[in-house]
Amino acid sequence: MFETLSDKLSRAMKSLRGQSRLSEKNIEEALRDVRMALLEADVHVQVAKAFLQRVKEKALGVEVLNGLNPAQQFIDVVYQELTAIMGGQAPERPLDMAAKPPTVVMMVGLQGSGKTTTCGKLAKYLKKNGHSPLLVPADVYRPAAIEQLHVVAKDAGVPSFRTDSMEPVAICKAAMQEAVLKGWDVVILDTAGRLHLDDVLMNELAAIKDACGPTEILFVADAMTGQDAVRSAGAFHEKLATTGVVLTKADGDTRGGAAFSIRHITGTAIKFVGSGERLDDFERFHPDRMAQRILGMGDVLTLIEHAKDTIDEKDAERMAQRLVKNQFTLEDMRNQFQQIQKMGSMQKIIGMLPGMGKMKEQIESVATDKRIKHLEAILNSMTPRERQNHNLLDARRKRRIAAGCGRPVHEINQLLKQYLQMKKMMSQMNNPGFMKRMQAMQG
Ligand code: GDP
Repeated sequence: MFETLSDKLSRAMKSLRGQSRLSEKNIEEALRDVRMALLEADVHVQVAKAFLQRVKEKALGVEVLNGLNPAQQFIDVVYQELTAIMGGQAPERPLDMAAKPPTVVMMVGLQGSGKTTTCGKLAKYLKKNGHSPLLVPADVYRPAAIEQLHVVAKDAGVPSFRTDSMEPVAICKAAMQEAVLKGWDVVILDTAGRLHLDDVLMNELAAIKDACGPTEILFVADAMTGQDAVRSAGAFHEKLATTGVVLTKADGDTRGGAAFSIRHITGTAIKFVGSGERLDDFERFHPDRMAQRILGMGDVLTLIEHAKDTIDEKDAERMAQRLVKNQFTLEDMRNQFQQIQKMGSMQKIIGMLPGMGKMKEQIESVATDKRIKHLEAILNSMTPRERQNHNLLDARRKRRIAAGCGRPVHEINQLLKQYLQMKKMMSQMNNPGFMKRMQAMQG
């Protein structure tokens, strides 16, 4: 998501390099590129307009601060405004909880948006955060949907409500009673979806809302459907006063316009983002971090949070220290590959690393998921000393390693090239100039 936007924005920033100050003229020029970038990313015209206006006003008004150059100042303004338009600072806790349990979370959305999957993701997320959720199948029109929810619940390690009733309101109310009896503190209702907006469905959802008094009503929006997702989010909000949005399929080939526009157009915040079919492909939405990611600053915080969940904490700490000291070795790279396979898709992780936006293509050609196993085999065929010091790898050793792991020598060379690039990128993180930029962006 947002790759083109990121690329275009960094081009717009470049046009300001070498300028001595921000003026109406050079701001206009940079904004022309930004406007193109936004429209190409399928951002709602109205949102793009409001955004550009605010950036322009702010950029013209900025004082020359702490020795930042015009390009950096402009990035700072764009960063602030990107964050603001996507909803500003995310609240400490993503969901409100009812004063008296169970808290009812009602999931609504069109068919195929990923609602059932998201119920499972949310249940797993809540369980990890100390809650005991109950999943409730209230989509009585598709028997497959009910079965699917039971499967998802099992996957997530949470209970699901079973009943013979085929009446959505009755099912939800009975589930709430069972939650009180058994001490489940959150009840997640998987409601029916249709292919299109539909009054009968809306009335059914309104009846469930009246009967169950949900604390949260989350609209599940398929990011791939772009502006349609924004329109549906608006329609559901109008009818049901939804309290938030979960944006799914952010891993797909989407241009990101929905993520950008939903808050501004519907007034409801994106609370979570789904980025894959697995239950762990789910994270909170932080506008500020997303803005950093769009601007190619990566999203180190989300990566660290994700890593904390899946990776051995000691390993992660050791890695972080090595990064800070710029001691990244082939041994670390091998560990990373092993961890990466635990964490999910390589591309996703690369996208979260700062400075990787531009490097992503090069890396994709070397380290797509299916090739990681080959790379790991190469690294495994090296001696520990070689993994600690890549300079030991001469032509003779490379041939031996190639024979040992059954991969051609040029793959070994590619891997080394990649390693050196990663090392260089990481050393940039230690560069005072980079840190300054990072601090500037964090305001
Ligand atoms: P529902 O009809 O709204 O309940 O949608 P489902 O939960 O059945 O999901 C529809 C399809 O989208 C399924 O194939 C899911 O695996 C897939 N899906 C759901 N969320 C995501 C996501 O975040 N990323 C991707 N790539 N696929 C997803």
